[in-house]
Amino acid sequence: MITRPSPWAHRVAAIATAVLPLALSPNAAHAEALPKVGNNGERLVWQRDEVAVCIDDAANAIQDLPQHLRTAFLTWAAVPSIPTFELWRDRCDVVITLSDNLAGRDDALAICGLAYASTTGLARATITINPRYFESIGDATVDPSAYDLPSILAHELGHALGLEDDLDDATATMYGTTSRGDVAQRTLAEGDVDAITAQYLIR
Ligand SMILES: [Zn+2]
Repeated sequence: MITRPSPWAHRVAAIATAVLPLALSPNAAHAEALPKVGNNGERLVWQRDEVAVCIDDAANAIQDLPQHLRTAFLTWAAVPSIPTFELWRDRCDVVITLSDNLAGRDDALAICGLAYASTTGLARATITINPRYFESIGDATVDPSAYDLPSILAHELGHALGLEDDLDDATATMYGTTSRGDVAQRTLAEGDVDAITAQYLIR
C-alpha cells in the first residue's frame, strides 16, 4: 500500500533537518563541527531580532535559573546587531531543560541541539542541562566550588545563535570546557565577538 505523507509529517521533516548536540564539558577539550550553512547553502542564523527563551517544568527545579539566564543574556547583549534573548513563559524558540537525554555526552555539563528549517534558518534550539551536575552548578562568584551556571548558559546560548566551539582561546565564551569557580565565559573574548559578528553580518 502506498500512502501520501500527511502535511504534518512533511512539515516536521522540513524543520528537523539537523539536530546537533554541542556539549560544554567539565574536563577534556573536545571538537565538534557545526555547519554554518544548511542544505541549500543558507546561513544557519535566526531570521529575527528577538529570540524567545523559555524554561520547561524539569528545568524549573534549578535554583535561580531565570536570574542566571538573564546574566547569560547580558554576555551576548554586548554585541550590537545580533538577535537579543528574552525570557518568556508562553513563547519558545530556545527551551532550557534538565534531562539525562544527552545525545551520548553524559560527561557534559550541558548540550545544545539545533533544528533549522531549510528556508528560514534556525528554527529551534534545546539547551539540556545534565542532572548529574545538579548539585555542582550555581553562581561561582558566590560559591567558587560551583561550575558557573551563567557561564554554562552563555556558552550554550552561543551555540543557540549558531556558533561553534572555540578550540584555541581558553578565555573565550565559546571554549568547550570549564572548571569549578571559572567565570571567564561570562565575558566575550575577541574571537567570540568576531565569530558572532561574521555569523550575522548578512541577514
Ligand atoms: Zn560547546
